[in-house]
Amino acid sequence: MAIDTIWVLAEQQDGAPVPTALELLTQARAMAGTVKAVTWGGGAEGLAGTLGEYGAQVVYDLGDLGGKLPGPLVAAALAERVRSGDQPDAIFVPTTYDGRDIAGRLSARLDVPVLTNVVGLVEENGELHSEHAVFGGTQIVTARFTGARPGIFVIRAKSFPAESAGGGPASVETLTVPEVGAVSAASVQQRHVEERSGPKLDEADVVVSGGRGLGAAEHYALVEELARLLHGAAGASRAIVDAGWVPYSHQVGQTGKTVKPTLYIACGISGATQHLVGMKGAKHIIAINKDPEAPIFSVADLGIVGDVHKVLPKLIEALKAR
Ligand code: FAD
Repeated sequence: MAIDTIWVLAEQQDGAPVPTALELLTQARAMAGTVKAVTWGGGAEGLAGTLGEYGAQVVYDLGDLGGKLPGPLVAAALAERVRSGDQPDAIFVPTTYDGRDIAGRLSARLDVPVLTNVVGLVEENGELHSEHAVFGGTQIVTARFTGARPGIFVIRAKSFPAESAGGGPASVETLTVPEVGAVSAASVQQRHVEERSGPKLDEADVVVSGGRGLGAAEHYALVEELARLLHGAAGASRAIVDAGWVPYSHQVGQTGKTVKPTLYIACGISGATQHLVGMKGAKHIIAINKDPEAPIFSVADLGIVGDVHKVLPKLIEALKAR
């Protein structure tokens, strides 16, 4: 059975689709003739241009949801749509908090499986095969999706490139959001946006990350300074997040963010597999570590065996002198 139609959950943030939604649209249009994006939170007409450019022909708009938590309402609306006969072959969902919530609820409502932690997708004889990173990203398991359609795939950020197809705006179709009773009683009261200067960690072209080798929380300022001078973002290993030196939003790795910058600089990071899985897709990797046997050197294009407290100030000084 061929794959004709794919829906992509195009979650939005600050009035634009999240980057993963554009990555999923790019992949969906390579696999299916019909691609539809699903949006909620209002402003669908404004999003239709970008979503169309990346491959959506139609945008299903669920409206602003009245400030309610999206999970129950989006899942109910999509389940109703599928039951009415408008059935996609697959639904691609970004790995975000709301994406995971919707995927689980939709899976239960439609009684179809949900495949999570997907890092790759392949079509073979009309079947979708999904790739999953396991054991800290050291092994890839391929799952063959043969069950009832639609297959729900929750896909990790940066699994595919986001490439514009140059298409015109998608047409917007409003979907009815059904009453779901007490399930949707919770509403969002407040959103907290963490302050930051410079690019977002998972979108930055240059990422400078620090680990336990920095020795103390105050030395993280060196990492931030280098990142700022390179117009990049500052990341971290889990060791220093757990130690409370930096917030969780900085964490790179299996249980943090996946980054694929042009340049990743690891400072005082050993290179545990759980860290590598989040950054080994970077185009160029530079590692600074005083231990020549540190595993991070196995993925580095350039290794500097040295003390971060000496190397980082030198690098910062050289950049400032340019
Ligand atoms: P260490 O492993 O302690 O390494 C410090 C390094 O600094 C050493 O290599 C040392 O040689 C070097 N060093 C010391 N002093 C200096 C100096 N002065 N100059 C230069 N180099 C120096 N980790 C993540 O990062 N991200 C994750 O998402 C993540 N998820 C995990 C999920 C699970 C389920 C588990 C079990 C673990 C996870 N971890 C994750 C933790 C991971 O296994 C490592 O413990 C962690 O990455 C180690 O952080 P680190 O490299 O900063 O510290």
